[in-house]
Amino acid sequence: MTKINIYPKLILDALRNVRYPGTGKDIVEMGIVSDDIHIAGNKVSLTLLFEKPNDPFIKSLVKACETAILTYADPNIEIKGNIEVKSKQVQQPKSTNVLPNVKNIIAVSSGKGGVGKSTIAVNLAVSLAQKGYKVGLLDADIFGPSLPKMFNEEEARPILHNVDGKELIAPVEKYGIKMLSIGFFVNKEEALVWRGAMASNALKQLIVDADWGELDFFLIDFPPGTSDIHLTLVQTLAITGAVVVSTPQQVALADAIKGVNMFTNNKVNVPILGLVENMSWFTPAELPQNKYYIFGKGGAQKLAEEMNVSLLGQIPIVQSICEGGDLGKPVALSTDSITGMAFSTLADNFLTAIERRNSELPPTSMVEVHNK
Ligand code: ADP
Repeated sequence: MTKINIYPKLILDALRNVRYPGTGKDIVEMGIVSDDIHIAGNKVSLTLLFEKPNDPFIKSLVKACETAILTYADPNIEIKGNIEVKSKQVQQPKSTNVLPNVKNIIAVSSGKGGVGKSTIAVNLAVSLAQKGYKVGLLDADIFGPSLPKMFNEEEARPILHNVDGKELIAPVEKYGIKMLSIGFFVNKEEALVWRGAMASNALKQLIVDADWGELDFFLIDFPPGTSDIHLTLVQTLAITGAVVVSTPQQVALADAIKGVNMFTNNKVNVPILGLVENMSWFTPAELPQNKYYIFGKGGAQKLAEEMNVSLLGQIPIVQSICEGGDLGKPVALSTDSITGMAFSTLADNFLTAIERRNSELPPTSMVEVHNK
């Protein structure tokens, strides 16, 4: 067979015929085709860059690229190379001036209320602090702040102090955690009637005008669902990753998908560190071997697999978790209890996810393209 001299430009032009579904734009224009098109003899290799490693159109676009090259570049080409698929490291155009001394900003979120998001955020924060990390916790649940109660600090009133000539709010400190909540400043009824913009501004103040100092982890307990407040937060802060909490119940899982999508959508692009399944099963004290899957079994595991995210932990329904929340003594403080250990394992998995995220090279999967 004669060798065909094909040039990158020819390939690129051929690929302009491939459109990304639903946008009307071609994949070259969208920056999906990387510059490094290699041609060796009659072997072509190129890379497609996707913002999301789980982009639903990867397979069909690879196929379309193959067809376009064969159709438009030269029908006689024998493609013995391959099309590599990579995910793009998207540069987040977010201000890194906000909280410059914080290493990791973490969103703790849920699709719906009442699944135990705040309980998980608080106990994860406690576990991390117990492991020696510097932890900050912000209760961003403006309309239902629960942090003051969960730390038995309902009477605390943070003061302003002077830092380098600037008056900053000093976070309340307990169990080695610095924390702030709108609940320290206004009563619940007052915040409930705030409009979105007012709530967002109040939150911004708690972030920007507070003396958080140096932190390894700044955990933000997001309001449930998806709202303007979420958008403000994800657009203001360079969030390292999100932890999404759900129960195994079908309705909660359906909302968890929405919660995950809110972070992974193109405009926001916050990586998901993983899911946490709360209320996974119930074990009565008198029958410690028994597990009752009240809300269904394995739901979050299945969802995590389907969405290609990690399951960071499963936390059972335990009376002491509820009591700990009500009394202001999170169970994660008792590291030798079974529930304390469950949160410690969750924290370990979380730390692994963070490590992976911070050293992450874009996940690569090879899709071989062979000419028929
Ligand atoms: P959310 O922040 O999602 O609205 P909360 O963390 O406030 O939910 O939890 C709702 C209620 O459920 C609280 O009373 C809390 O103590 C209780 N709860 C949460 N998780 C558990 C659990 N694993 N076992 C027992 N009670 C729990």
